[in-house]
Amino acid sequence: MGKLIIFSAPSGSGKTTIVRKLMQLVEGLEFSVSATSRAPRGVEQHGKDYYFLSGEEFDQKIAEDAFVEWEEVYAGTKYGTLRSELERIWSKGNTILFDVDVKGGVRLKNIFGEQALSIFVMPPSIEELRRRLEGRATDSPEKIEQRLGKANEELGYAEQFDLTIVNDRLEVAVEQVCKAVTDFINK
Ligand code: ADP
Ligand code: 5GP
Repeated sequence: MGKLIIFSAPSGSGKTTIVRKLMQLVEGLEFSVSATSRAPRGVEQHGKDYYFLSGEEFDQKIAEDAFVEWEEVYAGTKYGTLRSELERIWSKGNTILFDVDVKGGVRLKNIFGEQALSIFVMPPSIEELRRRLEGRATDSPEKIEQRLGKANEELGYAEQFDLTIVNDRLEVAVEQVCKAVTDFINK
Protein backbone atom coordinates (compact mmCIF):
# COMPACT_ATOMS: atom_id res chain seq x y z
CA MET A 1 0.00 0.00 0.00
CA GLY A 2 1.23 3.50 -0.85
CA LYS A 3 0.60 6.91 0.70
CA LEU A 4 -2.40 9.21 0.49
CA ILE A 5 -2.94 12.93 0.86
CA ILE A 6 -6.42 14.10 1.80
CA PHE A 7 -7.76 17.59 1.08
CA SER A 8 -11.03 18.82 2.57
CA ALA A 9 -12.57 22.30 2.76
CA PRO A 10 -15.85 24.15 2.59
CA SER A 11 -16.84 24.38 -1.10
CA GLY A 12 -15.32 27.53 -2.67
CA SER A 13 -12.25 27.69 -0.37
CA GLY A 14 -9.92 27.07 -3.31
CA LYS A 15 -9.08 23.42 -2.68
CA THR A 16 -9.36 22.41 -6.36
CA THR A 17 -7.21 25.38 -7.43
CA ILE A 18 -4.50 24.47 -4.87
CA VAL A 19 -4.53 20.76 -5.72
CA ARG A 20 -4.16 21.49 -9.45
CA LYS A 21 -1.10 23.68 -8.79
CA LEU A 22 0.36 21.12 -6.40
CA MET A 23 0.14 18.44 -9.09
CA GLN A 24 2.08 20.63 -11.52
CA LEU A 25 4.82 21.23 -8.96
CA VAL A 26 5.28 17.85 -7.26
CA GLU A 27 5.78 14.61 -9.24
CA GLY A 28 4.22 11.22 -8.50
CA LEU A 29 0.82 12.49 -7.34
CA GLU A 30 -2.41 11.28 -8.86
CA PHE A 31 -5.90 12.49 -8.18
CA SER A 32 -8.46 9.97 -6.97
CA VAL A 33 -11.48 10.37 -9.23
CA SER A 34 -14.61 10.11 -7.07
CA ALA A 35 -17.98 8.80 -8.11
CA THR A 36 -20.98 11.11 -7.75
CA SER A 37 -24.70 10.97 -8.37
CA ARG A 38 -24.82 14.66 -9.42
CA ALA A 39 -24.88 15.83 -13.05
CA PRO A 40 -21.71 17.18 -14.72
CA ARG A 41 -21.10 20.93 -14.31
CA GLY A 42 -19.69 23.04 -17.17
CA VAL A 43 -16.80 21.26 -18.87
CA GLU A 44 -16.53 18.39 -16.38
CA GLN A 45 -15.80 15.01 -17.98
CA HIS A 46 -16.74 11.48 -16.96
CA GLY A 47 -13.66 9.58 -15.72
CA LYS A 48 -11.61 12.77 -15.35
CA ASP A 49 -13.46 15.02 -12.90
CA TYR A 50 -15.83 12.39 -11.54
CA TYR A 51 -17.36 9.07 -12.49
CA PHE A 52 -20.89 10.37 -13.04
CA LEU A 53 -23.39 7.70 -11.99
CA SER A 54 -27.17 7.71 -11.78
CA GLY A 55 -28.67 7.45 -8.28
CA GLU A 56 -29.49 3.79 -9.00
CA GLU A 57 -25.98 2.98 -10.22
CA PHE A 58 -24.50 4.65 -7.13
CA ASP A 59 -26.76 2.62 -4.80
CA GLN A 60 -25.81 -0.56 -6.65
CA LYS A 61 -22.11 0.16 -5.97
CA ILE A 62 -22.91 0.73 -2.27
CA ALA A 63 -24.67 -2.65 -2.18
CA GLU A 64 -21.60 -4.28 -3.80
CA ASP A 65 -19.33 -2.72 -1.12
CA ALA A 66 -17.39 -1.04 -3.94
CA PHE A 67 -16.67 2.14 -1.94
CA VAL A 68 -13.88 2.76 0.61
CA GLU A 69 -16.13 5.56 1.87
CA TRP A 70 -19.13 7.46 0.56
CA GLU A 71 -21.21 10.35 1.86
CA GLU A 72 -24.46 12.11 1.00
CA VAL A 73 -22.64 15.45 0.96
CA TYR A 74 -25.71 17.42 -0.14
CA ALA A 75 -29.31 16.23 0.27
CA GLY A 76 -29.96 13.76 -2.54
CA THR A 77 -26.38 13.89 -3.89
CA LYS A 78 -23.87 11.20 -2.99
CA TYR A 79 -20.11 11.17 -3.48
CA GLY A 80 -17.74 8.28 -2.87
CA THR A 81 -14.28 6.81 -3.35
CA LEU A 82 -14.21 3.53 -5.25
CA ARG A 83 -11.83 0.85 -3.97
CA SER A 84 -10.75 0.29 -7.57
CA GLU A 85 -9.34 3.85 -7.65
CA LEU A 86 -6.82 3.09 -4.88
CA GLU A 87 -5.48 0.03 -6.70
CA ARG A 88 -5.40 1.85 -10.04
CA ILE A 89 -3.16 4.60 -8.63
CA TRP A 90 -0.96 2.64 -6.22
CA SER A 91 -0.22 0.01 -8.89
CA LYS A 92 1.58 2.80 -10.79
CA GLY A 93 3.63 3.70 -7.70
CA ASN A 94 1.88 7.06 -7.29
CA THR A 95 0.65 8.84 -4.14
CA ILE A 96 -3.12 9.37 -4.11
CA LEU A 97 -4.68 12.80 -3.70
CA PHE A 98 -8.19 12.99 -2.31
CA ASP A 99 -10.64 15.86 -2.59
CA VAL A 100 -13.45 14.85 -0.24
CA ASP A 101 -15.91 16.48 2.13
CA VAL A 102 -14.86 17.00 5.75
CA LYS A 103 -16.53 13.86 7.08
CA GLY A 104 -15.00 11.76 4.28
CA GLY A 105 -11.61 13.33 5.04
CA VAL A 106 -11.78 12.44 8.73
CA ARG A 107 -12.96 8.93 7.86
CA LEU A 108 -10.14 8.31 5.35
CA LYS A 109 -7.57 9.56 7.87
CA ASN A 110 -8.98 7.16 10.49
CA ILE A 111 -8.82 4.26 8.01
CA PHE A 112 -5.28 4.92 6.74
CA GLY A 113 -3.59 6.51 9.82
CA GLU A 114 0.11 7.27 9.34
CA GLN A 115 -0.08 6.40 5.65
CA ALA A 116 -2.23 9.50 5.17
CA LEU A 117 -1.63 13.26 5.50
CA SER A 118 -4.90 15.19 5.94
CA ILE A 119 -5.01 18.88 5.01
CA PHE A 120 -7.90 21.28 5.69
CA VAL A 121 -8.09 24.28 3.34
CA MET A 122 -9.63 27.20 5.23
CA PRO A 123 -11.10 30.32 3.56
CA PRO A 124 -9.96 33.65 5.10
CA SER A 125 -13.61 34.42 6.03
CA ILE A 126 -17.20 33.45 5.21
CA GLU A 127 -17.61 36.74 3.29
CA GLU A 128 -14.64 35.86 1.07
CA LEU A 129 -16.06 32.35 0.61
CA ARG A 130 -19.28 33.89 -0.71
CA ARG A 131 -17.31 36.13 -3.10
CA ARG A 132 -15.39 33.12 -4.46
CA LEU A 133 -18.52 31.01 -4.95
CA GLU A 134 -20.25 33.91 -6.71
CA GLY A 135 -17.12 34.65 -8.76
CA ARG A 136 -16.76 31.00 -9.82
CA ALA A 137 -20.26 31.33 -11.29
CA THR A 138 -20.84 27.60 -11.54
CA ASP A 139 -23.67 27.25 -9.01
CA SER A 140 -27.18 28.68 -8.84
CA PRO A 141 -27.91 31.23 -6.06
CA GLU A 142 -29.78 28.47 -4.16
CA LYS A 143 -26.80 26.13 -4.42
CA ILE A 144 -24.48 28.89 -3.20
CA GLU A 145 -26.69 29.48 -0.14
CA GLN A 146 -26.72 25.72 0.50
CA ARG A 147 -22.91 25.55 0.33
CA LEU A 148 -22.49 28.62 2.59
CA GLY A 149 -24.99 27.19 5.05
CA LYS A 150 -22.81 24.10 5.34
CA ALA A 151 -19.53 25.99 5.61
CA ASN A 152 -19.90 27.02 9.27
CA GLU A 153 -20.42 23.42 10.34
CA GLU A 154 -17.54 22.24 8.16
CA LEU A 155 -15.09 24.75 9.67
CA GLY A 156 -15.61 22.99 13.00
CA TYR A 157 -13.86 19.90 11.60
CA ALA A 158 -10.55 21.67 10.92
CA GLU A 159 -8.93 20.57 14.18
CA GLN A 160 -9.38 16.90 13.29
CA PHE A 161 -6.97 17.32 10.33
CA ASP A 162 -3.18 16.97 10.48
CA LEU A 163 -2.75 20.45 9.02
CA THR A 164 -4.84 23.59 8.34
CA ILE A 165 -3.84 25.93 5.49
CA VAL A 166 -5.55 29.34 5.22
CA ASN A 167 -6.02 30.11 1.51
CA ASP A 168 -5.74 33.88 1.58
CA ARG A 169 -2.95 34.61 -0.91
CA LEU A 170 -2.94 31.67 -3.30
CA GLU A 171 0.85 31.58 -3.85
CA VAL A 172 1.47 31.39 -0.09
CA ALA A 173 -1.07 28.60 0.39
CA VAL A 174 0.38 26.63 -2.53
CA GLU A 175 3.91 26.97 -1.15
CA GLN A 176 2.82 25.76 2.31
CA VAL A 177 0.96 22.80 0.82
CA CYS A 178 3.89 21.85 -1.46
CA LYS A 179 6.31 21.83 1.48
CA ALA A 180 4.05 19.74 3.70
CA VAL A 181 3.39 17.23 0.91
CA THR A 182 7.05 16.92 -0.10
CA ASP A 183 8.10 16.40 3.54
CA PHE A 184 5.41 13.74 3.99
CA ILE A 185 6.33 11.84 0.81
CA ASN A 186 10.05 11.86 1.64
CA LYS A 187 9.51 10.84 5.28
P1 ADP B 1 -13.16 24.47 -4.09
O1 ADP B 1 -12.48 23.41 -4.89
O2 ADP B 1 -12.63 24.54 -2.68
O3 ADP B 1 -14.65 24.40 -4.15
P2 ADP B 1 -12.18 26.33 -6.15
O4 ADP B 1 -10.76 25.89 -6.29
O5 ADP B 1 -13.15 26.00 -7.22
O6 ADP B 1 -12.75 25.89 -4.71
O7 ADP B 1 -12.12 27.93 -5.93
C1 ADP B 1 -13.32 28.70 -5.83
C2 ADP B 1 -13.11 30.01 -6.56
O8 ADP B 1 -12.19 30.83 -5.81
C3 ADP B 1 -12.53 29.85 -7.95
O9 ADP B 1 -13.14 30.78 -8.82
C4 ADP B 1 -11.03 30.17 -7.75
O10 ADP B 1 -10.44 30.70 -8.92
C5 ADP B 1 -11.07 31.20 -6.62
N1 ADP B 1 -9.89 31.18 -5.73
C6 ADP B 1 -9.18 30.12 -5.29
N2 ADP B 1 -8.18 30.49 -4.46
C7 ADP B 1 -8.24 31.83 -4.36
C8 ADP B 1 -7.48 32.82 -3.63
N3 ADP B 1 -6.46 32.50 -2.84
N4 ADP B 1 -7.85 34.11 -3.76
C9 ADP B 1 -8.90 34.45 -4.55
N5 ADP B 1 -9.67 33.58 -5.26
C10 ADP B 1 -9.34 32.28 -5.17
P1 5GP C 1 -18.70 19.46 -5.88
O1 5GP C 1 -20.16 19.13 -6.15
O2 5GP C 1 -18.47 20.91 -5.62
O3 5GP C 1 -17.79 18.89 -6.95
O4 5GP C 1 -18.27 18.68 -4.57
C1 5GP C 1 -19.06 18.71 -3.45
C2 5GP C 1 -18.35 18.09 -2.25
O5 5GP C 1 -18.23 16.67 -2.38
C3 5GP C 1 -16.95 18.62 -2.02
O6 5GP C 1 -16.87 18.98 -0.64
C4 5GP C 1 -16.10 17.43 -2.31
O7 5GP C 1 -14.91 17.46 -1.58
C5 5GP C 1 -16.98 16.27 -1.88
N1 5GP C 1 -16.55 14.99 -2.46
C6 5GP C 1 -16.11 14.76 -3.71
N2 5GP C 1 -15.78 13.47 -3.84
C7 5GP C 1 -16.02 12.86 -2.64
C8 5GP C 1 -15.84 11.51 -2.15
O8 5GP C 1 -15.41 10.60 -2.85
N3 5GP C 1 -16.21 11.29 -0.86
C9 5GP C 1 -16.69 12.26 -0.06
N4 5GP C 1 -16.99 11.93 1.21
N5 5GP C 1 -16.85 13.54 -0.47
C10 5GP C 1 -16.52 13.84 -1.75
